[in-house]
Amino acid sequence: LNEACLTCNSKPLRTIRPYRTRFPEGRAIFGGSTLNECDSCGLVQVVPRPSQEVLDDYYRSDFRRHGYGGSDVADLRRFPRDNLFYYNRGHSTADLIARHLAAGSDFEVADVGAGYGHILQAMGERLSCSQRVAIETSAECVTFLEAGGLEVHAAPAEQVLDAMANRFDVVTMTHVLEHLLDPRAVLGQIRASLNDAGLLCVEVPNIPYETLLRHPDHAWAPRCDEPHITFFSRNTLTDLLERCGFEVLFADTAGPKYRLISALRFRLPKPKETLVRMLPRSFFDFLRGLSATAAVRVAEREECFFDYGGFRIWLRCIARKR
Ligand SMILES: [Zn+2]
Repeated sequence: LNEACLTCNSKPLRTIRPYRTRFPEGRAIFGGSTLNECDSCGLVQVVPRPSQEVLDDYYRSDFRRHGYGGSDVADLRRFPRDNLFYYNRGHSTADLIARHLAAGSDFEVADVGAGYGHILQAMGERLSCSQRVAIETSAECVTFLEAGGLEVHAAPAEQVLDAMANRFDVVTMTHVLEHLLDPRAVLGQIRASLNDAGLLCVEVPNIPYETLLRHPDHAWAPRCDEPHITFFSRNTLTDLLERCGFEVLFADTAGPKYRLISALRFRLPKPKETLVRMLPRSFFDFLRGLSATAAVRVAEREECFFDYGGFRIWLRCIARKR
């Protein structure tokens, strides 16, 4: 295990604990891995890292199988209110961007990892956009985005950004950075695709060190490490963006508040998994459906999505191209 830090290239990385997987597909990729902290910059990252080919395959076939990304709720007829979780997140993100954007109009915006397009939709409602571009790999999402009339690039950002003629005023990238094997390279490409003083808005899960040892408890908080490559605190996210040529204008915790459950309670799920394996598959799917539905039962305006500071489940950051 001789991997260098994904932010600062330093070695060694210090092992914190085994990587927690949840599903067989994740176990096959990350089962023998550990979480490691860089002694130099503090970034927490998985070691060893899977190859790009293995990850591409995983996102193509397995990622949405277990209801990740709310794939079971997108409904074009009710869009963007089909998923009020994404709706609130989109509008709170667009609000924050509007506060940091110089007055003007005809902004060109792109969303890297656009999903079903809730953020681009909110940007269109809050800002005067001349162009909204979605970069998204999921075939299901691409169909949905195209039906919504957006310009869609159906390939990973690292494959399309360099070839695009556009120079964007704003690029958003939410819940993507922590999945990347080479975050610096993609941030560099995004920087090159921005206009002078263009803005990047990044959101990632908020995973400060204490949440790795104890476990955060929230309906929307990840209960496993799968399939993340990096695990950010406000400091390590800010540090990475600064090293990639950005000036960080805003970085704070966002979204609903975490609670912490004790290590003892966190170690309990093992017998539950055994129990789940004994249940008929259809009944298990039914139970999962109930919990997935509970997670997206959100009001049309959920105030906690618009609040910042304290121990919240995301980090939201606005950075300007230097
Ligand atoms: Zn480092």
